[in-house]
Amino acid sequence: TKIGIDAGGTLVKTAYRKNETILYQTFSSYNLGDVVSWVYESFENPIICITGGKSQLLSEKLNDSAKTVVEFEATSRGIQLLIGEQYESLKTNFLFVNVGTGTSIHHVNDMEQQRVGGTGIGGGTLMGLAYLLTGVEDYARMVQLASNGDRGNTDLKVKDIFEGALPPISGDLTASNFGKRESMIAQYPSASDILAAIIGMIGEVIVTVSSQMAVQYNVDSIVYIGSSFRSNPLLREIIDDYTRIAGKEPVFLKDGEYSGAVGALLSL
Ligand code: ATP
Ligand code: MG
Repeated sequence: TKIGIDAGGTLVKTAYRKNETILYQTFSSYNLGDVVSWVYESFENPIICITGGKSQLLSEKLNDSAKTVVEFEATSRGIQLLIGEQYESLKTNFLFVNVGTGTSIHHVNDMEQQRVGGTGIGGGTLMGLAYLLTGVEDYARMVQLASNGDRGNTDLKVKDIFEGALPPISGDLTASNFGKRESMIAQYPSASDILAAIIGMIGEVIVTVSSQMAVQYNVDSIVYIGSSFRSNPLLREIIDDYTRIAGKEPVFLKDGEYSGAVGALLSL
């Protein structure tokens, strides 16, 4: 059986075919031994291709020699397959933004991909700031709490500054993430509010950087992938809204977080 593996900074994603459909699995990057056990317990004849930052480390732990491929190429190939399955008109000129532990931005034109930028603000930022500001370590709990949060208790909107006067830009835009200092001093925000605000800040930074790249490379669509969108409808919603405000079309691929693993599978 052919198995594609994307060993990232936080999560290891796997993809393999069974009866024409691709099956996916996720492991923690901190227990690569679990991936190795799963491979040898599940498959008699594994033929493996690995991508991602931890591909070298993982391949050293596998008994069989595994092929490795460059992450950006694999991700691009995987995305093209998923887009082909999920959209009727195949996009040929677009940006893809991989919101993993960190965030990486790529331009795809026909089959060529080029990394055009990135930011250290990503899924790892959520994990780290959530821990520092609320003590929450568990991802599922973090996104659950955030879903009940109110950013109105932490973030300053343009209309908060203009206080009734007509602002020159939409009053609903964020003027200052975590900028509502006076009101936070009067009443310390809840963990839910803080978590929602962290997610808001991350989403807005990602769109700000990505949408400017979209203008620079003259593309209409921005494809967002990465496990950071998993069980996190708030992040998706913020990025969806802000991308539209920036005049670009956001695309969220089903199973997009497995693009790298799918690309590795296709490389075999
Ligand atoms: P990189 O590509 O930057 O090397 P990665 O490939 O490991 O990292 P992803 O798997 O795409 O990154 O995304 C990791 C992020 O996904 C985490 O930072 C976190 O925000 C989110 N996430 C989703 N599910 C989980 C989970 N079960 N445990 C930890 N983080 C999770
Ligand atoms: Mg990754």
